[in-house]
Amino acid sequence: MTQHDLATALRKRQRLFLRVGPHEFTNNELQHMFRFINECSDEDMIDSYVTCAKCGAKSVAGPALDAVIAASKSDDHFLKLSGQHCMGN
Ligand SMILES: [Zn+2]
Repeated sequence: MTQHDLATALRKRQRLFLRVGPHEFTNNELQHMFRFINECSDEDMIDSYVTCAKCGAKSVAGPALDAVIAASKSDDHFLKLSGQHCMGN
């Protein structure tokens, strides 16, 4: 995928997640997240998916991230390839 195609797919994915859950965000938090999705750059959108929510570490960055994006066939595939830092812990 291109960076833009991936960011577009991740925006769609994130909007769906926020609409159907499961999550425990307040209305304020949801509004903030929808605004982020609408206004952030492609880079920031992708960055939010490779940054560990627990510890802030990047699962992949720089040229390695560009290679993972290029190799990805879908947003699901990208998430599988990029991995999550603390998942399962
Ligand atoms: Zn982590």
